[in-house]
Amino acid sequence: MDKIQLKALAKINLGLDVLRRREDGYHEVKMIMQTISLCDELELRKRKQPGIQVRTNLHYLPTNENNLVYKAAQLLMEEFQIGDGIAIQLQKRIPVAAGMAGGSSDAAAVLWGMNQMYGLGLSRKGLMERGVRLGADVPYCVLRGTALAEGIGERLRTLPPMPKCYILLAKPGISVSTRFVYENLHANDLKPEQHPDVDAMIEAMKEKDLGLLTARMGNVLELVTVPAHPVIEEIKRYMLEAGALGAMMSGSGPTVFGIFDTQAKARKAYHAMRAGRLAKQLYLTVPYNVRR
Ligand code: ATP
Repeated sequence: MDKIQLKALAKINLGLDVLRRREDGYHEVKMIMQTISLCDELELRKRKQPGIQVRTNLHYLPTNENNLVYKAAQLLMEEFQIGDGIAIQLQKRIPVAAGMAGGSSDAAAVLWGMNQMYGLGLSRKGLMERGVRLGADVPYCVLRGTALAEGIGERLRTLPPMPKCYILLAKPGISVSTRFVYENLHANDLKPEQHPDVDAMIEAMKEKDLGLLTARMGNVLELVTVPAHPVIEEIKRYMLEAGALGAMMSGSGPTVFGIFDTQAKARKAYHAMRAGRLAKQLYLTVPYNVRR
């Protein structure tokens, strides 16, 4: 096998709680993760010239070791002493720095693809163990589907798939630093009522009750990101008025997702949001649970 094509799926968080800040500065989280059909596309190709070549359609993204795809390739090339080179073509569609784990998903795709292309014989668990060295969300991006993520995000448990629905994503034209959000959360000083009830959400998922699930959704990071960027609250309100069962910020933001029970309602909301001009990027998507 000389080349391989891959899809790197975006994720949303249906629930996101931060339990505490650890002594070492990491945060202990409890998150419900869901992959969606919005994805980046990658092509890996073996090259005679040694080294890692990264090409991408987004001119402002790094193509050196600061790109997570580079780091993922480097990790496996060093461990398995792969002497030949590799070319990575990365077609970005997932909004960057948007709370959708785009970079982590690209890295997971490279790990998975290189394992296939070079016949490295790593199990999914082996890929996930290497993935966490690149980022806390990478193991989940190897797994995909509906999952509970705990620890720093690397302890994963598969959940029943999300009930059928349609998802509208809206990203306002602002960037949010994940680091800024976590630093300003002061996780150890939160009051009990400020924490979303992730266990109650899991119950709703088990019952396949989309109404209950959306009513119970919560993201503790909204406490920091929304006051800093009120447009997020505006978009949420807009989505609810347009017929969403629920609307919430994903990850540390600023992307907001709205959940709809019919495609017609989601489409109508898409057109309303486009006319409203609150969001710079808009995508209609669905949950995507194909596992690797
Ligand atoms: P998360 O949901 O995990 O917080 P995110 O959506 O906030 O992720 P990404 O889009 O993954 O953030 O990337 C944020 C930063 O990482 C950007 O500033 C970008 O320069 C850098 N980066 C490195 N590699 C990539 C990649 N392959 N795709 C996107 N960004 C990348």
